[in-house]
Amino acid sequence: MSKLERISDHVVVDKETQYGSRSCILGGISLSKYSIAIDSGDSLEVGIGLIKELETYFKVPVKYLFLTHTHNDHRNGREAFKDLTLIASQKCIDNMPKSVSFNKWKMELFDQELIVQEDNLTLEFHHVGGHSVGSSIAYFPVEKVLFAGDLFITNPVNFGLPFMGFYQNKPKRTGNPEEYLAAFDKFKKMNLDVIVPGHGKVILNPQEYLDEQITFYNALKDFFNSAIEEGKGLDEIKFPRLEPIEAAHKDAESRKQRSNALRFLDNYLNWIKRSFYNYYSGKFFEI
Ligand SMILES: [Zn+2]
Repeated sequence: MSKLERISDHVVVDKETQYGSRSCILGGISLSKYSIAIDSGDSLEVGIGLIKELETYFKVPVKYLFLTHTHNDHRNGREAFKDLTLIASQKCIDNMPKSVSFNKWKMELFDQELIVQEDNLTLEFHHVGGHSVGSSIAYFPVEKVLFAGDLFITNPVNFGLPFMGFYQNKPKRTGNPEEYLAAFDKFKKMNLDVIVPGHGKVILNPQEYLDEQITFYNALKDFFNSAIEEGKGLDEIKFPRLEPIEAAHKDAESRKQRSNALRFLDNYLNWIKRSFYNYYSGKFFEI
């Protein structure tokens, strides 16, 4: 049975893979003569599986692989796609670790955006950054679907909190909150029914969800800017009791492996804290 789940006429996702492996959510968009795979998963096996599933489901060949960003849970299935064409932002490719080469690949790279059009179907790719220096999204306006990669991570993964470590490979940087906020503004102007995050549940109330994210990031921005103005060092700053953080704590407290969950949560909160502190204090390169 297909693991693919229908999102709209031309869009599917495979959410299951992420619970059975360390993979991201995988997706596919079909135009009339071919389809485009969204991210390659965390292993060759997952990548091969995705191609098979998409070709069975849509009954057209997969022509492109779109990589939302460089992280290994999104790129490690890439070899399955090496005879196809890779779509990615130039910054995504520039930010790959040295061990990852796309030398012999056919590639369509873009700085800001790329549009793929077939008949009356248009698919847009935009570079936004934020989570990773090369992070990009795919927007399919005709069916109002946005594949946002790891700009969004929703429950039950990571307690629904953003992951803001590993923005850049070399020199290492933490996440860029201003790029997140600019991306949210861009998404607010899109006509959306569904946002597919990098991990977690698919978002079916996009406008409300975006508003919550904007409020959360702006509250963190104000909080860290005040702390920095008061001359506080990173270690002196305690996290503000914002709703998403309180909810994450509650969730961690209720998990079976409570101490592991709390340690895991602490680790992620630390990346958020460092990202905001580093960015707004001008220490963007320190990790
Ligand atoms: Zn990911």
